[in-house]
Amino acid sequence: MNSEVKKVEKNPYQYNGDYTLIDNETNSKNLLEKNLYIESYGCAMNFSDSEIVASVLSKKGYRTTNTITNADLILLNTCSIREKAEETIRKRLKTFNSIKKINKQVKIGILGCMAERLKDKLIEEEKIVDLVVGPDAYKDLPNLIDDVEKGEKAINVLLSKDETYADVTPERLNSNGVNAFISITRGCDNMCTFCVVPFTRGRERSRDPQSIIEELNDLRTKGYKEITLLGQNVDSYLWYGGGLKKDFHKASEIKKSTAINFAKLLELCALSQPKIRIRFSTSNPQDMSIDVIKIMAKYNNICNHIHLPVQSGSNKILKAMNRQHTREEYIDLIENIKNIIPECSISHDMIVGFPEETEEDHKKTLQLMDTVKYSFGYMFKYSERPGTLAHRKLKDNVEESTKKRRLNEIVELQQKHSLIRTKEFLNKTVEVLIEKTSKKSKLHWSGRNSENTVVVFPKEHYKVGDFVNIKITDCTSATLLGSAIGYSKNN
Ligand code: SAM
Repeated sequence: MNSEVKKVEKNPYQYNGDYTLIDNETNSKNLLEKNLYIESYGCAMNFSDSEIVASVLSKKGYRTTNTITNADLILLNTCSIREKAEETIRKRLKTFNSIKKINKQVKIGILGCMAERLKDKLIEEEKIVDLVVGPDAYKDLPNLIDDVEKGEKAINVLLSKDETYADVTPERLNSNGVNAFISITRGCDNMCTFCVVPFTRGRERSRDPQSIIEELNDLRTKGYKEITLLGQNVDSYLWYGGGLKKDFHKASEIKKSTAINFAKLLELCALSQPKIRIRFSTSNPQDMSIDVIKIMAKYNNICNHIHLPVQSGSNKILKAMNRQHTREEYIDLIENIKNIIPECSISHDMIVGFPEETEEDHKKTLQLMDTVKYSFGYMFKYSERPGTLAHRKLKDNVEESTKKRRLNEIVELQQKHSLIRTKEFLNKTVEVLIEKTSKKSKLHWSGRNSENTVVVFPKEHYKVGDFVNIKITDCTSATLLGSAIGYSKNN
């Protein structure tokens, strides 16, 4: 686990510092088949991308295993967002030396943001690595693996203007058969000064809505009950026939007038599958429109939760971060959300210790948190990333001890707010989609309500995938506890 990331509420679909194994294993091995073992790190996009990789490689005869010693190919889908994330991968690679000693034939590949950021340097620095592939080059994996099998090192880190993997049906991994991701945009154009994403995932482009709806329909047929539309900045979704978002102004008038934005896409999804719960992540405040909030309010199957990273409560820091909004505009947006969807829960990402952040700036962050009273949040110490504007232009000048103290302060405050938010559900009845057995008790189910709060309750006769009405009787800052009073209408 990435110790730098303090998680007040653990949402398995976002910024999970743990790695996840693919587990579609069977013990017998067909001679023509090869075994792929893949670990995913970092954001939900990486977890979703691993499902694309597994699908691409299944066409080459690879099937997934969760036994690393059984693997012909080991892939790490990596994250570069903070220095710690890269250190974790370097440490993990060291442990592979012993595996290579037992199985000399096994090939090792690095995928994702770290592959894109470090390129051939990774092959130079980490001798054990055979393959380096960036986030837009996964369709080239079969060719690259051919080279690797011939004993060569292979690399493809080309970023694309139009790759969205719309034509690849993801192979669902670690699936409970209930929740799934649908990727809708790739890349990011925001150029926040702290962030490597625009460099590692390229420019922003949107996926054909028809392929999104087809994937949604397919998931419904397979029994899935909840999907999360994914992108670095989903509110910026814009389909005008393909191509980069930044080139929209060059499109023909007809393409412009028939373009589909995020509000329209959300409505299309909600209408196509009224029995499927819809979530989306991540929203960037500058792109979140009133239309999106109204569509959320209009359709019951769109969940009442918005993940709305703000990063800081200080206008000075927001400006230095190149966030395209002020603290006041952010608060206005929250007020609009609360006016249109009073019960909507809001979560955040926050960074402490950005260059030049003073105690005064930090207090403004604490005050903003007091104003919003977020349901939960993901909080980080600033980590300088090579190549970003902040790295080039600003000095990482907040002491480590100060960063730690400020992080502890916002985490502590968030815990208080989370408890205030969970207490609001006491004695109420909420609809919960059952996802899995509770980690703490085999006799209890765990699921989430529309507002994305985890709910735990006795199993009785219910099963994974049921929508159940739960009367809430108790809570912690992260979890609601209750008992079932029957199936909800959504079943
Ligand atoms: N697209 C979203 C946005 O810009 O609001 C989230 C992108 S990022 C993958 C997830 C979170 O990591 C960010 O919201 C930010 O809080 C954190 N993060 C990004 N770069 C960071 C850095 N250099 N140091 C610390 N945290 C960082």
